[in-house]
Amino acid sequence: GWKLKQAREASFSKDAQLQAIFYAMRDAVIATSPDRKIQYVNPAVEAIFGYSPSELIGQSAAVFYTRIEDYEKNGSRYNINAKGDSEPYEMSYRRKDGSTFTGEARGAAVRDPGGKVRGFMVTVRDITQRKELRDRLFLEKEKWFVTLGSIGDAVIVTDLGTRVEYLNSIAESLTGWTLDEAIGKPVKEVFDILNEKTRMPVECPVEKSLLSGTIVGLANHTVLRCRSGKEYAIEDSAAPIRSRNGKVIGCVVVFRDVTQKRNLLLQVTHQANHDALTNLPNRYLFQDRLVQMFIQARRLSQAVALIYLDIDHFKKINDSAGHPFGDLVLKEAGRRIRSVVRESDTVARLGGDEFAIVAIGDLASPDHAAHLAQKILDVMAQPFPVEDLELRLTASMGVAIFPDDGDDATTLIRNADIALYQAKEKGRNNIQFFSPIMNLTLQERTALENHLHEALERKEFELLYQPVVDLKKGSIVGVEALVRWHHPKRGLVPPDKFIPLAEDNGLILPLGEWVLETACLQARKWGELGFPALRVAVNVSTRQLTRGDFPGLVERCLKATGLAPDCLELELTESVLLQKSAKVGDAMSALRILGVRISIDDFGTGYSSLGYLTRFHVNTLKIDGTFVQGIKTHPGNTAVIKAILALGHAMSMDIIAEGVETLDQVRFLKNQRCHLLQGYLLSQPVTAQEIPGILANDFLTPPGILSGL
Ligand code: C2E
Ligand code: MG
Ligand code: MG
Repeated sequence: GWKLKQAREASFSKDAQLQAIFYAMRDAVIATSPDRKIQYVNPAVEAIFGYSPSELIGQSAAVFYTRIEDYEKNGSRYNINAKGDSEPYEMSYRRKDGSTFTGEARGAAVRDPGGKVRGFMVTVRDITQRKELRDRLFLEKEKWFVTLGSIGDAVIVTDLGTRVEYLNSIAESLTGWTLDEAIGKPVKEVFDILNEKTRMPVECPVEKSLLSGTIVGLANHTVLRCRSGKEYAIEDSAAPIRSRNGKVIGCVVVFRDVTQKRNLLLQVTHQANHDALTNLPNRYLFQDRLVQMFIQARRLSQAVALIYLDIDHFKKINDSAGHPFGDLVLKEAGRRIRSVVRESDTVARLGGDEFAIVAIGDLASPDHAAHLAQKILDVMAQPFPVEDLELRLTASMGVAIFPDDGDDATTLIRNADIALYQAKEKGRNNIQFFSPIMNLTLQERTALENHLHEALERKEFELLYQPVVDLKKGSIVGVEALVRWHHPKRGLVPPDKFIPLAEDNGLILPLGEWVLETACLQARKWGELGFPALRVAVNVSTRQLTRGDFPGLVERCLKATGLAPDCLELELTESVLLQKSAKVGDAMSALRILGVRISIDDFGTGYSSLGYLTRFHVNTLKIDGTFVQGIKTHPGNTAVIKAILALGHAMSMDIIAEGVETLDQVRFLKNQRCHLLQGYLLSQPVTAQEIPGILANDFLTPPGILSGL
């Protein structure tokens, strides 16, 4: 009896526990008999299906189903699959009010100890909401994939470890990887990008973006290398993907093929820089290349030959044979010139029948430059076939060499143009060099050189002096000594023509010595005549400073003549001070100790490095005449002048404007607080004897040249 009671109580408490569980559950619990009549329902059934328990007990479970077939199938499910719990399954159910919902159900057969089926137990959970959410999510995802598949941009998605998770179809075709192949691969392997110019790999934007957590754009000129080896110019950006709590969980790269766009850009820039007819560089690109070549030539200590070429009587061809034929001739001319110069040289069409050739190399030697020019002349002389006639063309050419004939583009172009003009004057079909020495044959040059050697002994050199006027005082404060050569046969040879030659063969050393001695002696003489403060400026070649003992020479001259050191100003060019030679450095300090003044000649034409101004002690800057002459006409020149003045004033240097030719220029310079002037307007270079007469001039009071200011 006791045992029975205990068993009953135990079963009672178990029942009570089960009861409590069923009551607490939010899922519907339905127990049926083997013939599927409802025997028990928990309260959740009413909440989910809308039936009260009394309405259900004894009813067929079919009442819950939307479709009777489902009910029948389910019955067989329990019967056949009678092992135990069923897998959860989804089912459409009907509520009392006729509405339906999706439920997730689990069923189990209830067996007695003998294994006989005594009924079924089913739990049903309303998953309408969950299903809707899931469907929506699926739809959303589908929508994204469809979108990503149909947009024109390529998309790659990676996880936090930069492994590929997704590629859209454009990304597949640009990278050459299919989604299946790419999944799980490091993105670097799939998205193989490099710099178009350097061919070096480009830093992967995915890593950068993941690290920084920000959107990262690609550098310009990036190309994507497809698996097939084909390359695409691309633009892209990578953005981090964040989870809802803001943590970076991956990265998405969006990129597009801009090959076409870039080609278009290249094409447009090509068109802007090339002549449409001949496809040669036009004037703009030519000037650009010219400057580039200067830089290269300086670095390599080489020369640049600028050749201006003009087809002789082209107008006649155009008029008689017609423009279409003229166009053909120009095209062919361009092609021919191109064929005889090096790949690295530039052939440009400047307009009309004018071409320019820029060549770099060992061209400072006249023979080489002449050889190149002759080759061009020869190829132009080949007959141009026209229908059944043969047209013969000739050309005129002018050559200027950097740096000898000009070390900036403007000067060199001008000088090549002058030389071309001379070639035409000489009856066309010939080559003229800007530097007359270059026009000489080798024999003639040797003769001139031999002559130069004797010229010193024969006393064929003379010094002229050009006054420097101080605008404030209206009088002369100094003179510049300028050497002249009175050649017995050629007459007066200007220094531009023989100084380079003398520098080349070393004669500049004795010549420079003679110039310095003569100028110092002359200055002392003027001192004795009552002009002790007159400063004399002497031009010094680079070679004088780098060879021999220049400071020693200066010291001897000062001693011998008794000239005050600060009455002597040495004009150096920027190039010598830019040389990083110890010899130059030592010479500069020795000169400073002697107390002579240093000026920089032709300032602004050459180099842009100004460090030497602080390294060496420079007293004076001489603004090159080409800048002064460009006042008014070339806004750039006035800007350069203003900059030089600002620099000079700031460093307490004297500034002399050279090559002053007009009152307008004087007015401008005066306004800019530049008051030391030198130029033809004030005085040409004159002989020593003429100087005392000019010294008495007052330039400011009538009839002074500057009195009209
Ligand atoms: P530089 O030292 O720049 O001399 C100024 C040049 O400009 C001189 O040419 C002078 O005659 C010229 N000039 C003066 N005023 C005007 C003007 O208003 N308009 C124009 N267009 N030009 C003007 P020059 O005498 O033919 O000398 C040319 C260059 O030869 C000098 O340029 C200098 O670099 C060099 N040179 C002259 N004498 C010597 C010398 O004794 N030794 C060395 N190493 N070089 C010298
Ligand atoms: Mg000078
Ligand atoms: Mg000068």
